[in-house]
Amino acid sequence: CDFQKTNDSLLKHEPLVDSPRPIQIVLADEDNHKFELDTEALEKLLLQEEVRDLNVVVVSVAGAFRKGKSFLLDFMLRYMHNQQADWWLGEDDEPLTGFSWRGGCERETTGIQVWSKVFVVDKPDGSKVAVLLVDTQGAFDSQSTIKDCATVFALSTMTSSVQVSLCRWSDWVFSCLFTEYGRLALEEIYLKPFQSLMFLIRDWSYPYEHNYGLEGGKRFLEKRLEVKQNQHEELQTVRKHIHSCFSNIGCFLLPHPGLKVATNPMFDGRLKDIDGDFKEALGNLVPLLLAPENLVEKEIGGAKVTCRDLVEYFKAYIKIYQGEELPHPKSMLQATAEANNLTAVAGAKDTYSKSMEMVCGGDKPYIAPADLERCHEEFKEGSVRQFRAVKKMGGEDFCKRYQEQLEGELDEAYSNFHKHNEGKNIFYAARTPATLFVVMFA
Ligand code: GDP
Ligand code: MG
Repeated sequence: CDFQKTNDSLLKHEPLVDSPRPIQIVLADEDNHKFELDTEALEKLLLQEEVRDLNVVVVSVAGAFRKGKSFLLDFMLRYMHNQQADWWLGEDDEPLTGFSWRGGCERETTGIQVWSKVFVVDKPDGSKVAVLLVDTQGAFDSQSTIKDCATVFALSTMTSSVQVSLCRWSDWVFSCLFTEYGRLALEEIYLKPFQSLMFLIRDWSYPYEHNYGLEGGKRFLEKRLEVKQNQHEELQTVRKHIHSCFSNIGCFLLPHPGLKVATNPMFDGRLKDIDGDFKEALGNLVPLLLAPENLVEKEIGGAKVTCRDLVEYFKAYIKIYQGEELPHPKSMLQATAEANNLTAVAGAKDTYSKSMEMVCGGDKPYIAPADLERCHEEFKEGSVRQFRAVKKMGGEDFCKRYQEQLEGELDEAYSNFHKHNEGKNIFYAARTPATLFVVMFA
């Protein structure tokens, strides 16, 4: 079974092979309800040279099992692979591949998977972004898994820039509650912590009431979000608050894909077996999420997040979800502020190192120590300025601590550059005993 293969190769930490595949990055251990982040796999993916410094677009499809997430993601993959083509949906007879596994073989693990290829896309404004496709799943079936599920959804909400929530109306309230939890966690800092949320209502069978697609969805959503006096109080709160969580909320009504898709065990995703209405709706939906002009870059605390930063956020968030209980919103906030400052430190240090490499890197000749020191002072100042210019969370005192850490790390880096530079000094080198020996007997 492919799933088994995926996991086995992950355990052995094989290098990313050429054929793209889903990679499990967050895994819920269902026996003791602990979460594990495969940091190595995540770093291997997001720290690749071509993507690590690009702003990241994280499109996450969330929902319970067997809701059609893999099915949808596979069409998203087709779009990403054939963006330039007029017809990206695929051939009539082409089986659907990607996130999906052969029927019945998929183990129902709660967790987060990402596609092993990070797509680089040129936006109309000329910038390049990295697009990460994420599959988030949890089971809603028993009490014991509610915490796991809430954790996975909160993690996905925190780390994505576009969340597609695939659901029926009845599941909907669940995801609202999870979102509400995430909002609570971050509400002290800024008004709308999350970016785009798209509710995807599948098997919509009342097109005469609200038409398929985005427009119908919008009207459906407005109706559903109306707060009425006689509603349960919790429901009222969810409805009132959901708009304060996301900058942009949409809803899309997706028709039923047809009986072959829903019931035939031999169905392998061929377009010819899928209803026309569904294909048409899909053709509208996917570009709404993934067309270059519609891509939403991930932001945290008002600053755009790069692939490199995203690794730090994942590490910070997973840490606080490793306890027995759902974490207190305060610790969530703390972790975000920490990761936020740490990524600013890493970025500023990187700029310093790159500038110093240009002056005294391995391939550069010896430079007079006084000149080197002057460069260090200048680049250090620039690096600290860069750090201070990044919008950060946690307040001035908190931020000061990280500035001190940065300054310390820069001084340490300087001392290494200095040593390297001295190594290149032929006169200095001639004074070391080993060289002296050679000189004497030459
Ligand atoms: P996942 O567990 O959420 O990833 O679900 P899958 O993508 O594996 O799909 C589960 C089953 O639902 C498959 O048999 C699909 O053929 C079927 N399916 C996919 N999309 C839809 C849909 O929109 N409506 C219905 N009724 N079935 C769907
Ligand atoms: Mg799936």
